[in-house]
Amino acid sequence: MAACATGLQPDSAVVVVGSCMTDLVSLTSHLPRIGETVHGHKFFIGFGGKGANQCVQAARLGAKTSIVCKVGKDSFGSDYIENLKQNDISTEFMYQTKDASTGAASIIVNNEGQNIIVIVAGANLLLNSDDLRKAADIISRAKVIICQLEISPATSLEALTMARKSGVKTLFNPAPATADLDAQFYTVSDIFCCNESEAEILTGLTISSPAAAGKAGLVLTERGCKMVIITLGAEGCVFVSAKEPGPKHVPTQKVIKPVDTTGAGDSFVGALAFYLAYYPNLPMEEMIKRASFIASVSVQSSGTQMSFPYRKDLPLHLF
Ligand code: ATP
Repeated sequence: MAACATGLQPDSAVVVVGSCMTDLVSLTSHLPRIGETVHGHKFFIGFGGKGANQCVQAARLGAKTSIVCKVGKDSFGSDYIENLKQNDISTEFMYQTKDASTGAASIIVNNEGQNIIVIVAGANLLLNSDDLRKAADIISRAKVIICQLEISPATSLEALTMARKSGVKTLFNPAPATADLDAQFYTVSDIFCCNESEAEILTGLTISSPAAAGKAGLVLTERGCKMVIITLGAEGCVFVSAKEPGPKHVPTQKVIKPVDTTGAGDSFVGALAFYLAYYPNLPMEEMIKRASFIASVSVQSSGTQMSFPYRKDLPLHLF
């Protein structure tokens, strides 16, 4: 990163405090039973983890981004740092530890697309208060911070609280969700953005339509966040603002044949952060429409980060 005239690093508009996971994917004709060894026909390594995914999408739209995260002092960790650098993300606050391995997801997928997944969060869970303190300057000077729940919830909450105290917009993605989410997450979130199954876990309601999502959104808003967005896959999303009456359904672009919807939610969150940081005066509905469009592009090719579009490949009217 080039130094600015003052000799200080220029600020990152979007800061993500979150996870990095290496996906180890084996494709096989059938899933192994206990004790069985099967031959797969393809293996690949992918870069994942919600924190890094969201940061990559924001960066690909042109946002100046930094990530605060922890990987292992192992080859997966070093490769991940390189991957984020290649996406123009500042890795100054990406820590490497000897005390745990880089977070990894071992994924086996059969010909029907069914899978077995084991996730070991590893180094992600060691990101702590000391690490946040070192990154306090970039957090306090950001326009938007994004956090999720693939690191220790206490660290996420502390990062959001630090950001809020400095007037930084807080975007919280409670994924993976747990029913006993600390109530402070609601009050510290300017925007609380989850998918429908996460909203079901958090509210205990069944969500089978945009109208039902609206009801869940109202329940979540009443817990103290300024705005709730619930994404609904091909149905787009619903948002509820504490200031405005009623939930609003925002449909997304129709995709005739989605290829791979993995990571669509992360593409949406990363894109939304970009608009919050760079187009803060756009109406929220318009930001959501544009972020949905970007996420709908991501479902049209395979992979997670691999499918996230770059600004140069998107229509000009989005910028
Ligand atoms: P994932 O867990 O796979 O990352 P998610 O469940 O968190 O995704 P979704 O609600 O499935 O997130 O999708 C997020 C956004 O992506 C949607 O609001 C929508 O804009 C877009 N999207 C997802 N699936 C489709 C689809 N089939 N067609 C068009 N747009 C889609």
